[in-house]
Amino acid sequence: MSRQRNLPEIDPAEILADIKTWAAIESPSKDGVAVNRVVDVAETAMTGLGMQIQRRPGRDGFGDCVVARSPWGGDGPGVLIMAHLDTVHPHGTLQGKLKLEERDGYLYGPGVYDMKGGACLGLAALRHLVRAGRETPLPVTYLFTPDEEVGSPTSRDLIESLGLANKYVLVLEPGRDGNKVVTARKGCARYVVRAHGRPSHAGMRHQDGVSAVLEAARQIARIEALTDYATGVTANVGLWSGGSGANVRPAFSEFEVDVRLPDDASAEAACAMLDGLTPVDPEVRLEIEGGINRPPYPKTAAIAALLAHAQGLAAEQDMPLEDVATGGFSDGNFTAALGIPTLDGLGVDGDGAHTEDERLLLASIKPRTQLLIRLLETLR
Ligand SMILES: [Zn+2]
Repeated sequence: MSRQRNLPEIDPAEILADIKTWAAIESPSKDGVAVNRVVDVAETAMTGLGMQIQRRPGRDGFGDCVVARSPWGGDGPGVLIMAHLDTVHPHGTLQGKLKLEERDGYLYGPGVYDMKGGACLGLAALRHLVRAGRETPLPVTYLFTPDEEVGSPTSRDLIESLGLANKYVLVLEPGRDGNKVVTARKGCARYVVRAHGRPSHAGMRHQDGVSAVLEAARQIARIEALTDYATGVTANVGLWSGGSGANVRPAFSEFEVDVRLPDDASAEAACAMLDGLTPVDPEVRLEIEGGINRPPYPKTAAIAALLAHAQGLAAEQDMPLEDVATGGFSDGNFTAALGIPTLDGLGVDGDGAHTEDERLLLASIKPRTQLLIRLLETLR
């Protein structure tokens, strides 16, 4: 079947101009006022396309959420697109370490890859459909969030409720490793463990003390032993403190744990182990606080089918499309954990997320916008 000829062209220069505009507004997660300046731009763009807008005010200092729904497709479940507008980069990055500039086929700049580039592909795909006068088989909802880079504390409920109200979720986080999309992400558990011992003079009264640092060391060895590269479980104690002086038996020690978990079974096992930690020295008291921070996002049969569909669409433009599982998480973890088929990493290709070398591959703008348009046109 031949495609219609009189459709508007996808213009990568127009999309690049959007990306530059959005990236020129610095938006570190914890500055809700700054993030809202980009949220304003996104809202205006969505309004301009005739999308129905709901804007939910932020709380706890974070920015607002915007939900933009297509005027077509009715009230039923459809396709949910997600993008976060915050970045990890502090104010001043644009003037200093990471200027917005094109070089060697890339656009460098804070958030261009993670993920204002992807966010603008979503805008471009919808704009293309509106200009073409095309309605998609399913209604499209586009959710913009302000706080992904700090774990989505104020947007998680909305992500989950919109996820449950839709058939598919497309996440515009960066593409990976040369044009790959993401079909699985590990979950994450975070814990803080505090050990309380008993102080004493390390020289005169060593035997009277109970070392919280020694206890912490023993517990850390236990916890790190959860790591199993074969199954994909990794445990990391990345912060550790304790003690009050070299000559004092330490009464207190505290450390923080990050465990990455490929599936629900490994998550349950790891949390049971951590929740059930008992002191090696019975005179030490342990305080354990934490739990699952992001649920695992395993590649289910429905996600494999969604990938296969996307691969078929990519083949239309001779674009190879492979998938990858990653240890990093995204808001896709929340919807995938609810059983909603979620395809992630559909944003721009590039590299250097969260670094002063962040860049998006200019050549990825057009094919990835085209893929997104075809997904919206064909998912039903
Ligand atoms: Zn991101």
